[in-house]
Amino acid sequence: MESRPGEIRYPFEAPPETGRSLEVAEGVHWIRLPLRMALDHVNVFALDDGDGWTLIDTGIDHPRMRSLWKTLLVEVLGRRPVRRVIVTHHHPDHIGLAGWFQSQYGAELLVTRTAWLFARMLRLDEQPRPTPETMEFWRGAGMDDARLKARADERPFNFADVVAKMPLGFTRIDEGDAIEAGGRIWRVRIGHGHAPGHATLWSESDDLVLGGDQLLPSISPNLGVYATEPEADPVADWIESCQRLVTFARDDHLVLPGHRLPYRGLAPRLRQLEHNHHGALDRLRRHLSEPRTAVECFTPLYKRDIGEGEYGLALVEAMAHVLHLWHRGEVKRKMGHDGAWLWQLV
Ligand SMILES: [Zn+2]
Repeated sequence: MESRPGEIRYPFEAPPETGRSLEVAEGVHWIRLPLRMALDHVNVFALDDGDGWTLIDTGIDHPRMRSLWKTLLVEVLGRRPVRRVIVTHHHPDHIGLAGWFQSQYGAELLVTRTAWLFARMLRLDEQPRPTPETMEFWRGAGMDDARLKARADERPFNFADVVAKMPLGFTRIDEGDAIEAGGRIWRVRIGHGHAPGHATLWSESDDLVLGGDQLLPSISPNLGVYATEPEADPVADWIESCQRLVTFARDDHLVLPGHRLPYRGLAPRLRQLEHNHHGALDRLRRHLSEPRTAVECFTPLYKRDIGEGEYGLALVEAMAHVLHLWHRGEVKRKMGHDGAWLWQLV
């Protein structure tokens, strides 16, 4: 499953500046919004419907993002109304301001049912301290006592801090649906693994694909397991999605992703995205000849040291990979005296 780097091409050298847009195809405008994370931006797209706009994703909710959008609405969207917001998946950098566009501007929200339910549930489930289930999940993954103790007294990551209130009411989109926007008909294809019920939109009229985080170039989206569903197998979901979506990929497709740059070469990219996980699973199998906790699997999975800022994402992804081998019957697990699961090849 080799893919020559030349097969993935980036027709645009640089993204639009903050506060500007770049028309990547007639009626399809690329806008980049800042994020204050290791990944410092998210791409959103505005589709020109003539008398108004359809937005694809929104960025996180933050006072600075609201004021940036107010500027964009005037200077880039020319005061024409945002009539619809289509959200690819429930993560805050994508759905963060959907509720604000609904309540402030009367926009209709189109999203998968799973994504809407997850986002609204997490938006309402505000936690000043980690729940006992989350503490148990972290302990089970092998988080050390010092970190557990420190985290027990800290406000955890909360959707309510970065996602605007979500009013009742959404329009469900699902596999195979057709949506008219930006002068094109788009076919909805659903992916899983990075987020359940992640929508991608494939133009039937030309070569565009709105990929969200399902079809990212150059970075492998995080596949995580959380206390919500502590025995989930998102790696299997992800691999299944890559194998299914690759059958729709054409060489001329121009993918407009949720992060980084638009690209061509979707089929090789999907094979690469799948291959990355097979490589990680092979390294993990060798490492699990001895019993180890999920946290003790960072080194073979990432092949580098994990900094404090990446620890949380590394933990949920390490859990996803050991659980995948467990679901496949390749490893067994045993609870250690310290409350951490030890995983070992059968
Ligand atoms: Zn994202």
